[in-house]
Amino acid sequence: MQSEKRFEDLGLCARSLDGLRKAGFTRPSPIQAALIPVALAGNDCIGQAQTGTGKTAAFVLPILERIDFDSNQTQVLVLTPTRELSQQVEEEAKRLSVSHEVRTVCLVGGKPLKPQIAALHRGAQIVIGTPGRVIDLMMRKDLILDHLRFVVLDEADRMLDIGFRPDIERILKHCPSERQTLLLSATLPPPVERLAQKYMRNPQRVDLSVKNVGQSSIEQFYISVDHDRKLRVLVQLLIEQRPQQAIVFTRTKRMAEKVYAQFEGRLSHSAFIHGDLAQSSRDRVMKQFREGKIRLLIATDVMGRGIDVSGISHIINFDIPEDCDDYVHRVGRTGRLSSTDCKGTAFTFVCLDEGQQLTNIEIRINKPLEEYRVRKVEASRPRPPRQHVKDVQSEITVIRPTAAEEDDWPVFDDVISEA
Ligand code: AMP
Repeated sequence: MQSEKRFEDLGLCARSLDGLRKAGFTRPSPIQAALIPVALAGNDCIGQAQTGTGKTAAFVLPILERIDFDSNQTQVLVLTPTRELSQQVEEEAKRLSVSHEVRTVCLVGGKPLKPQIAALHRGAQIVIGTPGRVIDLMMRKDLILDHLRFVVLDEADRMLDIGFRPDIERILKHCPSERQTLLLSATLPPPVERLAQKYMRNPQRVDLSVKNVGQSSIEQFYISVDHDRKLRVLVQLLIEQRPQQAIVFTRTKRMAEKVYAQFEGRLSHSAFIHGDLAQSSRDRVMKQFREGKIRLLIATDVMGRGIDVSGISHIINFDIPEDCDDYVHRVGRTGRLSSTDCKGTAFTFVCLDEGQQLTNIEIRINKPLEEYRVRKVEASRPRPPRQHVKDVQSEITVIRPTAAEEDDWPVFDDVISEA
């Protein structure tokens, strides 16, 4: 996933190159190699790439080149869809700017206002946050946007999905028109295009999206399953795969809790996360997941987005995503750039009435998924063979489960008998 180019070829200053060395980045990722020179030339940019491809550094590095470090004024505003992603972006910005002495602040809900206000008054050149809290502080006049040079809309498609469009527009209307806007998005559905048309000036496009999931090394399978057998199949799949770390995606918060209930009390390293959890619980779960203490995380799409954890070996779509773009986002959580030995495998449960959704996903990523059959459990009652669209051919392949070298998921053997 790295490019032929070197960071030295991209027009970055010595301090940035020093920061990159300290961060341990040896070569730019494709999105970095493509986006950095375009952004450095002063263009508005649309970067189509998902989290895990190095997109944060792709927008942070050109921004660092343009900040006036002698000024305390807020010069950069990064908007993200979730609090977790804001925190991740702030960490990455700090990591890359060790040689620059830049001040950052993360403005997210669910955290006390006072320290955020204090940081703003001390002067933060880079402000990262979620739209709600940013508007709050903007209206209170603690956050002054008059001197912005850059606005970044990170994971723009997800921000619009969540319903942040009015908030984003409100913020953008308060930003100076003389600014550079960078928009990062895994997908470019029409609402994102419209936003870009309205608020960006002649944006240059850098598209590295489809390649990432469709042509990536992430192995992708589907499993034909009946609704009422999903839990048993999930448990069996975990026994066979013994993931280093896995995220199980469900469509609803209730389903996330229901799946979790299957493991609760019996598997100490499992947890669930969704938008209704208190921020402190969300933070705790994410911290433990990052540290590898939680190995099985059951999540809804909103929470799964932006999770950048290098050890995720498996993505399991317990519920097939309704939107193909969600598939791209979910699967992109595995096989991360920062992880050298984690190739990533994704499984998608497909019920009888969901064949069309599977086909839509295959068209979206331009790659047929292979069928995987779990052992021991009959995942689905007999059903007619799959109909395939003309240009998406699929063959049924039964892969052998890998031999379990370390038998550290033994508790599942108890769980399956009850599932
Ligand atoms: P992102 O897509 O920004 O969420 O980045 C995913 C992960 O890859 C983060 O942990 C980054 O620190 C890491 N990363 C980004 N760019 C590079 C690079 N050029 N070389 C190595 N790791 C990188």
